[in-house]
Amino acid sequence: MRVEGVGFRYPNGHEALAGVDLALGPGILGLLGPNGAGKSTLMRILATLAKPGSGRVLWNGVDTAARPDALRAELGYLPQDFGVYPALSAREFLAYLAAVKGLPSRVAGERVDECLGMVGLAEAADRRLGGFSGGMRQRVGIAQALLNDPKLLIVDEPTVGLDPEERLRFRHLITDLAGQRLVILSTHIVSDIEASATTLAVMAKGRRLFHGEPEALVAQA
Ligand code: ADP
Ligand code: ADP
Repeated sequence: MRVEGVGFRYPNGHEALAGVDLALGPGILGLLGPNGAGKSTLMRILATLAKPGSGRVLWNGVDTAARPDALRAELGYLPQDFGVYPALSAREFLAYLAAVKGLPSRVAGERVDECLGMVGLAEAADRRLGGFSGGMRQRVGIAQALLNDPKLLIVDEPTVGLDPEERLRFRHLITDLAGQRLVILSTHIVSDIEASATTLAVMAKGRRLFHGEPEALVAQA
């Protein structure tokens, strides 16, 4: 994926992004920056939920604003405000989302169980989501993002509100999932990604301050 000179301004005139460039291959991109840096705005653009005001995003060389479908078919997205239906079991909820996402019903059941297994929730599959901890809910969020076996997984501030143990577990999960995919994970907490990110992008006030290997950031500091 290539991000070329992306800028974005909200309708109220606030400039949330300016001239952001990124070149991304398989691995984990840690998008690091304080609240208000523009991380969520950038991730919504990468997930084709918003169009850049200037610049462009390329996926396999194709402009994602002009032709979003090619990327969407290969995209898993966990938004920051992901919510679950508390009355449903994890399996029921994912089966519902699989239907919404258009997974063929003959493969959906098996895929739901696979995804619950990948995030360590096989045992809890039939329990109501209302009784899940914050960390378990976030893993449900990852499971739903994996339903279509995405090549690009975008995860927005997944560790907010998690305790240290759940946060560590989440880090291991993300590392396991990277493999041949590109995972983009935003956070304002350095320890969430310093060990696992293959690439770091540091943002502040809508601008990219650094892009490169984590070691290079340490060397620069
Ligand atoms: P981050 O995810 O890094 O916290 P955001 O992308 O959410 O940053 O926000 C970037 C900037 O844009 C912030 O200053 C934020 O207040 C502003 N912003 C976010 N959403 C809106 C909106 N809908 N309208 C106007 N400004 C917004
Ligand atoms: P995030 O995913 O970082 O929470 P949001 O879009 O939900 O991004 O909002 C981030 C910040 O942007 C919020 O703190 C809020 O104050 C500000 N914001 C959101 N919507 C608007 C808006 N319509 N006008 C001005 N500021 C907004």
